[in-house]
Amino acid sequence: MGKVFLIGAGPGDPELMTLKAVRALGSADVVLIDDLVNDAKIINVGKRGGCRSTPQRFIEKLLVRYARQGRTIARLKGGDPFVFGRGGEEMQALRAAGVDVDVIPGITAGIGAAAALGIPVTHRSIAHGVTFVTGHTGDAAEPDWTALARSGMTLVIYMGLSRLDWIAAQLRHAGMPADMPACVIENGTLESQRQHVTTLGLLSAEGFASPVIVVIGEVVRFAHVAVAALRARAA
Ligand code: SAH
Repeated sequence: MGKVFLIGAGPGDPELMTLKAVRALGSADVVLIDDLVNDAKIINVGKRGGCRSTPQRFIEKLLVRYARQGRTIARLKGGDPFVFGRGGEEMQALRAAGVDVDVIPGITAGIGAAAALGIPVTHRSIAHGVTFVTGHTGDAAEPDWTALARSGMTLVIYMGLSRLDWIAAQLRHAGMPADMPACVIENGTLESQRQHVTTLGLLSAEGFASPVIVVIGEVVRFAHVAVAALRARAA
C-alpha cells in the first residue's frame, strides 16, 4: 500500500510553499494538481468555477487506485487543503479505503493574498478576529450575512466573484457602513496579481476574473501603504 500526501501549495507564489510540501513533492511518483503548478506523472484535475472539471468522486478513486499500486502520491491543492479545498472529503475517502494520508498545511489565499497587500487581518483593536466565508454556497445554506456584518471581524470571502454585488448589498442592509474599506484581490501573490482597494459601497467585481479573494473590514485601510509601495517598485 502506498500513501498520499495531501499538500497545501500556498496561494500562488511558489516561494510560499512550505519546505515540507517541497520535500513531499520530491518524494512522490504521482502528482495530482488543481489548476496550479515535474519526473512525476502529473494529472491535472483542476476545477474552475463554471468550467468542465474532473468529478470529485473520480479524483478520490484515482487517489485510492494509485495508493493500492503502492505509489507515493502528492495531492497538491491551492492554499491550505482544508480551507474550502475539499481536502477533508478526500482524506475521508482515502481513510475509508485504508490508505495512509499525511496532511501538509499551506498558506491559505485569504491570509496570503491579504498579507501580500499589507493587510493585517486581525490588527489589534481594529478587528476582533477574521472570518473565512464562502460566497458560493451551492446547495448548502446561505451564510448569515447579517450576523457577519455585525461581528466586528474582518471578512474574507472566497469564491465570491459572481455574487459580490448581492453579498455587498446584504452587508449594507445589515448596517455595515458604505465607507467600510474593502478590496478585491485577483491572482493574489502571483506576478499577475491585480487588486482594487475601495469601500463596501463601491465594491464591485467588474473586470475581475477568478481566482478572487474579497477582504472587507477596517484593516483594509492598511492596504494603501502596500499599494503605494507596489507602485513605487513598478515605476
Ligand atoms: N484551498 C484554497 C481555497 C480553494 S477555493 C485556499 O486555502 O486558498 C478557491 C478560491 O480560493 C477561489 O475562488 C478564490 O476565492 C480563492 N483563491 C485561491 N487562490 C487565490 C489567489 N491566488 N488569489 C485570490 N484568490 C484566490
